[in-house]
Amino acid sequence: MAKADFYETLGVGKSADDKELKSAFRKLAMKYHPDKNPDDKAAEHKFKEINEAYETLKDPQKRAAYDRFGHAAFEHGGMGNGGGFGGGGFSDIFEDIFGEMMGGGRGRRSSGGRERGADLRYNMEITLEESFSGKTAQIRVPTSITCDACTGSGAKPGTKPTTCSTCQGSGRVRASQGFFSVERTCPTCHGRGQTITDPCTKCHGQGRVTEERSLSVNIPSGIEDGTRIRLQGEGEAGARGGPAGDLYIFLSVKPHEFFQRDGADLYCMVPISMTTAALGGTFDVATLDGTKSRVSVPEGTQAGKQFRLKGKGMPVLRSNQTGDLYIQIQIETPQKLTKRQRELLQEFEQISSKENHPESTGFFARMKEFFEG
Ligand SMILES: [Zn+2]
Ligand SMILES: [Zn+2]
Repeated sequence: MAKADFYETLGVGKSADDKELKSAFRKLAMKYHPDKNPDDKAAEHKFKEINEAYETLKDPQKRAAYDRFGHAAFEHGGMGNGGGFGGGGFSDIFEDIFGEMMGGGRGRRSSGGRERGADLRYNMEITLEESFSGKTAQIRVPTSITCDACTGSGAKPGTKPTTCSTCQGSGRVRASQGFFSVERTCPTCHGRGQTITDPCTKCHGQGRVTEERSLSVNIPSGIEDGTRIRLQGEGEAGARGGPAGDLYIFLSVKPHEFFQRDGADLYCMVPISMTTAALGGTFDVATLDGTKSRVSVPEGTQAGKQFRLKGKGMPVLRSNQTGDLYIQIQIETPQKLTKRQRELLQEFEQISSKENHPESTGFFARMKEFFEG
């Protein structure tokens, strides 16, 4: 089933700012909230859609990814199960908006003891040559990993976290507030369900430490500008034994001095002299596979003429096909003529006929006719 556009779901324009988004979300969330629509599957579904749309658009990074790639940006990100960029499940959203409406404080967001690590974004720029041949890149990513001293528990080695007495270990407390019965993160343990009396000295009870990791990333040949590569489980470590987030490599391909790319095809503008264009000739072009290709220019070649070098373009990602290279001819008019060159060209002009210049002769004749009737 095709997913509804997030902006349409919230009924806002593409340029809506944070305030508009929030206000639209609040209105809709109030309307479709399950507490107000008991046993209404359609309302429940709508409520989930609204949540998902808001979760995405309120986060500048997610919003940018959505604007650029649409739903495809999150297709493999597992948004449905509370994953995706930065985690954040159903209950978080619930608390985020309703907690605030009820005048409650906004505690640290957490979805229970085991918290999924955040997704990371890494921007990588490669050359067209690297895109052509593919490469293995070594990158260094600052990330938080599970603390080895306490194996992620946050408690000092030799001690154990104790069950939180406020929530009896569930991590959540319920409170009735007027119309709603609101479930909130336990303020004592911040949703962990456990309290640490003797924190680990290495991670200060966080269960995670920040480190720079070296990763080897395989860039497949043929990859295009704007491609996103997902490395599952290479994001931040989850808190207290939760699953790690994912690492997203956002690739951009640097503009090339000679080649412009359009999908798998390459284009190269080649300026040739007026005399080569008129008399014919050959020239060599270097191609990305490291070889040279000879191009023959026939006599009387016009500007804009295109020559195709089959199979000399970019490889097509995950296939053994290759695009073509198109040579686009520009003709350079000679400048800074010497006296002798000028004389030769003038003489050439005098002995030129209509047949030498059918296009220009024809054009000016037709234009004259047009204006004089
Ligand atoms: Zn530790
Ligand atoms: Zn608690």
